Amino acid sequence: MEDTFRHKGLRKKLVQEVRSKGIRNEHVLEALGKVPRHFFMDSGFINFAYKDQAFPIGAGQTISQPYTVAFQTELLQVNPFDKVLEIGTGSGYQAAILLEMGAKVYTIERQKELYLKAQDFLPKIGYKPHFFYGDGYEGQPAYGPYDRILITAAAPDIPGKLMEQLKVGGRLVLPLGDSRTQIMTLVIKESDDKYQKTSHGYFVFVPLLKGTENGL
Ligand code: SAH
Repeated sequence: MEDTFRHKGLRKKLVQEVRSKGIRNEHVLEALGKVPRHFFMDSGFINFAYKDQAFPIGAGQTISQPYTVAFQTELLQVNPFDKVLEIGTGSGYQAAILLEMGAKVYTIERQKELYLKAQDFLPKIGYKPHFFYGDGYEGQPAYGPYDRILITAAAPDIPGKLMEQLKVGGRLVLPLGDSRTQIMTLVIKESDDKYQKTSHGYFVFVPLLKGTENGL
């Protein structure tokens, strides 16, 4: 797999497009400019890798639209060395963006096929998050608490166990709503039993499902 001048040029254009749609955080835009998105997509879709669109990644799932990845990452306000828990590894693209921003990344996926693929592939191109196979609703308490938690699938409510694993002062970003449409939501944990919730527009994600795909 190659990252050619053509790919780099297309990526620059994509960054400009995402900027023109309102993303302002230069660290986020820089990360978007660095991660070779075409590496994360099945070969048939490589020509679409630098369009600002979501695409299928197998197992009925999608790699999020670059604008959406940038929007969630901006809202999360990631600092270098932050411990970030991601729910929904999928292709691993969002995890790579978080790593480019200097975070320590812990990522959970409930579909075995996607988990295995990301775990095999990401380190080969230099991205080393901690991978977990399991139900994101449970989080990963052994490695917590986390500075930031990012849910990349649509959740009908704020998962209580994830709030418990968030540090006081930490931020949780999730698309909140039913399967048709969700409101991007930022939750800031103000104390152990108090949080502040704000809404940031409509998005569409695949659903956050309970358990793992074989019911474990
Ligand atoms: N972040 C991904 C996009 C993920 S799409 C990327 O950058 O490519 C959402 C992912 O969440 C899917 O892979 C889906 O299998 C996964 N998912 C859904 N419910 C989950 C759960 N309860 N725990 C962990 N992963 C889940």
